[in-house]
Amino acid sequence: MATKHQFQTEITQLLDLMIHSLYSNKEIFLRELISNASDALDKLSYLTLTDEKLKSLTFTPSIDIQFDETKKTITIEDNGIGMNEADMKEHLGIIAKSGTKSFLAQLSGDKKKDSALIGQFGVGFYSAFMVAHRVVVQSKKAGEDKAYAWVSEGKGEYEVGECVKDTQGTQITLYLREEEAHFASRWEIENIIHKYSEHIAFPIYLHYTESSFEGEGDDKKEVKENITSQINTAKALWKIPKAELKDADYKEFYSTLSHDNNEPMRWIHTKVEGNLEYTTLFYIPQKAPFDLYRVDYQSGVKLYVKRVFITDDDKELLPPYLRFVRGVIDSEDLPLNVSREILQQNKILANIKSASTKKILGEIGNIAKDEESYKAFYEQFGKMLKEGLYSDYENKEKILELLRFDSFKVENLSFKAYKDAMSSEQKSIYYILGENKDTLKNTPLLEKFAKKGFDVLLLSDEIDAIVMPMVGEYDKTPLRSINSKEALEELGEESIDEATQKDYEKVIKGFKEALGEQIADVKLSSLGDAPLTLIKEDSNPMMANLMAQMGQKMPESKPTLELNITHPIVKKLKSAKKDKIAQSALLLFGATLVLEGGTLENAKAFNTQLNELILQSL
Ligand code: ADP
Ligand code: MG
Repeated sequence: MATKHQFQTEITQLLDLMIHSLYSNKEIFLRELISNASDALDKLSYLTLTDEKLKSLTFTPSIDIQFDETKKTITIEDNGIGMNEADMKEHLGIIAKSGTKSFLAQLSGDKKKDSALIGQFGVGFYSAFMVAHRVVVQSKKAGEDKAYAWVSEGKGEYEVGECVKDTQGTQITLYLREEEAHFASRWEIENIIHKYSEHIAFPIYLHYTESSFEGEGDDKKEVKENITSQINTAKALWKIPKAELKDADYKEFYSTLSHDNNEPMRWIHTKVEGNLEYTTLFYIPQKAPFDLYRVDYQSGVKLYVKRVFITDDDKELLPPYLRFVRGVIDSEDLPLNVSREILQQNKILANIKSASTKKILGEIGNIAKDEESYKAFYEQFGKMLKEGLYSDYENKEKILELLRFDSFKVENLSFKAYKDAMSSEQKSIYYILGENKDTLKNTPLLEKFAKKGFDVLLLSDEIDAIVMPMVGEYDKTPLRSINSKEALEELGEESIDEATQKDYEKVIKGFKEALGEQIADVKLSSLGDAPLTLIKEDSNPMMANLMAQMGQKMPESKPTLELNITHPIVKKLKSAKKDKIAQSALLLFGATLVLEGGTLENAKAFNTQLNELILQSL
């Protein structure tokens, strides 16, 4: 005798949303049902160990799937804990979880908004109605005599009544809707299982029949053979204790995970217990993945929750600069079916991400203990670390230790090695930015630093120009471009005496008047070969970024103009008339700007002065 029951209002609401296909990837119904079967097997396994009544029960846990293309059905069966009548009413008729209930109360009826929301919690069993117009659950609870059938078309009500079933466990039959009938195929089912349930710890068997023909001509007859094949490997490698795994196991798993023909450089297998429980297995490849510098790169880390695959398309599982890392994160605490949108803000994941980042950086530090290995690593992924400097403030110190540079004197130098070699006279770590190390080595200014015994890092990576100016300091020692005012001061070559300063008073005043707002200051120097140098503070990209986020432009930093008193032009300016000083100021400033690849803002004035000068000299 079957009795009718009404679903709790919230379930009717939820089913309505499901049926109107809020989910774009309907295939996850199978993942959900397999996951429930796996849970039921987990529960019974535990009880056979702990419950007196069930200790005598012998059972080989398995999940069995059948399908019928003509009847358009899929059946998922497990021999787990099972459900009695009360269980069915409680678990398949009410939403017990308060979070889910309050969530449903929030639904607005706006499909778009709701569908974004609905992915945030486990919809589990009810996802069956995304593909089925009728669902039949037959179940017998372990240790009990009676079996029950639960039947529903997902429209506000369900029926429960006794039925016949010999073995303990649950069998769920989905009567697929016309549009979803394609799921009743061997190919589809196998694919979905490989995609989502490969590492479910229990074997998943698919049962099907294969037809072949025997004999010839009139004797020819069809032979049907029943086949059972195990689809998943039923082995979550990362869940196996380290001690039981061989290097070969890790390498094999890496190749299926990464499709990389090379062996991994390193792996880090970590099991965390305590407040949060999770397992991570990360690999550092030998070679950079081909899409490392592509915007649409494929994330290399898969997220599992209790061995159930959740996503391999979340680029935030690790910080983006570690996108070369391959691996698995398996959390015991996250809800299944956690949506991508919510992953980004999830505290548990944020915690795992932060700890994992530190682990990986630590392992890179281990590689660095061996110079040869580190060279190989750095060649492939050194740029990534610099990217990390820019984006991962929390680990700045760690990343700084991992960087290597060529300097004027040495190759593959760490900041630490540089600092250790510094004389007590040297106040800062100096660097010079440019495109080519060889030309950098010949920069006149660099020679002056070298003469003093100050080593200079030659930075020729494109990313250096963006990242290095924001580093600020290493281990309390400032980092300075040799072009910066501070570095030049620290070089301490410029001692312009008061008398000289006085001699040039008129010239300095004339330059300031002529150039006005275009410059910050005019100073004297005795450096270099050019008559004047423009000293610009290195721009600060982080600041610029912040300003841009607030919708503001970074104020252009004005250059300080340095007049080189060793240059003949500058010497002559001392005795020049006021209008000639002004003319020289405009022309020299303009020419220097152009020389340095800047833009001439007052091109017209520059041109007028140039024409005049040419006229006079003719
Ligand atoms: P969740 O798995 O997050 O608890 P579901 O909606 O997937 O939510 O399932 C609801 C409940 O129904 C489960 O907690 C379980 O008690 C019961 N259930 C579902 N499938 C099975 C099954 N195959 N065997 C035993 N119980 C099941
Ligand atoms: Mg579930």
